[in-house]
Amino acid sequence: MIARSEIETAVAELGAPPYRARQVYRALTRGLAVDFEEMTVLPRALRASLAARLTASALAPVEHWRSPAGDTEKALFATRDGHGVEAVLLRYPRRATVCVSSQVGCAVGCPFCSSGRLGFTRQLSAEEMMDQVLYWARLLRAEGRRVTNVVFMGMGEPLLNTDETLRACSLLNDPEGFALAARALSISTVGVVPGIDRLRREAPQVNLAVSLHAATDDLRDRLVPLNRRFGLDVVFAACARHVRATRRKLFFEWVVLPGVNDGDEQVAAAASRLRRPLYHLNLIPFNEAGGGFRAPTRDEVESLRRRFVAAGVRCTVRRSPGGEIEAACGQLALRRLGR
Ligand code: SAH
Ligand code: SF4
Repeated sequence: MIARSEIETAVAELGAPPYRARQVYRALTRGLAVDFEEMTVLPRALRASLAARLTASALAPVEHWRSPAGDTEKALFATRDGHGVEAVLLRYPRRATVCVSSQVGCAVGCPFCSSGRLGFTRQLSAEEMMDQVLYWARLLRAEGRRVTNVVFMGMGEPLLNTDETLRACSLLNDPEGFALAARALSISTVGVVPGIDRLRREAPQVNLAVSLHAATDDLRDRLVPLNRRFGLDVVFAACARHVRATRRKLFFEWVVLPGVNDGDEQVAAAASRLRRPLYHLNLIPFNEAGGGFRAPTRDEVESLRRRFVAAGVRCTVRRSPGGEIEAACGQLALRRLGR
């Protein structure tokens, strides 16, 4: 979508009254208008002059996949400067969750994740994150449904792009605009401590998930290279501050890598940190994404879950659907778009 300041500038330069800018913003975020032509609240001449200077969406849809079961869809978009960005729609009986990308690529470089493997290209703006959501919102509207949740769990590390991620949260939240409650939003981070601290202060209602994956610094240094900068002690101190201030459930994620992070010593080390009120651990079975790891069997995942529960941890398994269309966690890759 277009940044509000750009809308205001264009409206002013065209000599139209300022309330027109607000109408444009509402048409984009509430009316889900795909272009100016659809903004029938505006006079025809103003629509034409705005269309001549602005493009309503910052992202152009390129391709769309639907899983055989129909529960997961993925879209590839092109940014104006020719980068590929992917977003996923997860359909549940009573929910529809959009998983958005916050960066093109990712600088963290976790070896089990496709997004990390090719490195970092650039930050996405809040408007580019919004456009991913608006795309699915339009598609759902045609079926009489709505986006009920947005998770920042696509490509990229949202808390290495905190300004724009928080701005995207405010845009999604805006009662004048898209009006999705902050409690319906979730941010997943590998534990960027300054980002967690900002989230606590600036968006305490937004759900936080911390990608843990290992409970000893030596293993976590390998699985999540940012652990060398923000080690387990400082990450957990930030988590404690977060829970104390927000009184909200805090989620941890553990991608199950058999033979790597499912041993008893990891369970014991994790349990000693996770046996706290409001802490909840989600196991995510590894999805094929290269890097020399193997996907766990159902039994391996279940055995790990049982050992965590026996050690006193609230723990559930989160299956990430969409593997058939490479839309599952960790499978969003950096795509070069031929121009
Ligand atoms: N950068 C953030 C958010 C994006 S990834 C983060 O890492 O938290 C969202 C989740 O998918 C993370 O928990 C991540 O560890 C997990 N993930 C990455 N690659 C995966 C894979 N191949 N299989 C399963 N989960 C994966
Ligand atoms: Fe980046 Fe998250 Fe993938 Fe790690 S798991 S490389 S932080 S997107």
